[in-house]
Amino acid sequence: MTQTHLPTSNAAVDPLAPRDTWQAMGRGLIGKCPACGEGHMFKAYLKVADTCDHCGEELHHQRADDAPAYFTISIVGHIVVAGALILERWLAPETWVHMAIWLPLTLFLCLTMLPAVKGSLIGLQWSKRMHGFGGVADTPEPAPVAAGESANAGGRR
Ligand SMILES: [Zn+2]
Repeated sequence: MTQTHLPTSNAAVDPLAPRDTWQAMGRGLIGKCPACGEGHMFKAYLKVADTCDHCGEELHHQRADDAPAYFTISIVGHIVVAGALILERWLAPETWVHMAIWLPLTLFLCLTMLPAVKGSLIGLQWSKRMHGFGGVADTPEPAPVAAGESANAGGRR
């Protein structure tokens, strides 16, 4: 008796099948592999695993760079600044009260949101097949040559 193995995703049938962006971002948000949703994306706090420990999907292609920090600052800034302004208009507490509330909250929110935002962005990159996630190396395009400019134009003085 033979056991047939049925593919569980479109990727097993068609390697260029569309990938669900929201699902991949949601999986990344909770630190799971964007491909299977089971394996871990991170091997440390913000250190992305080279491959998924469940399905083997290569995750080293990610190029999140500064984007997670940028988006985290934007989100936390809106929460903290709005909260501080509302509290000031509502109760006008002493400065130390603001410091006691908003500084720890800012630190807590940044540290908890940073891995989630980074995972979500890597999920986005994976779903859009960016930076080698589609199986094609990420190489820069050659610079376009302007009209009227010849190949030896750089040699003239
Ligand atoms: Zn996986």
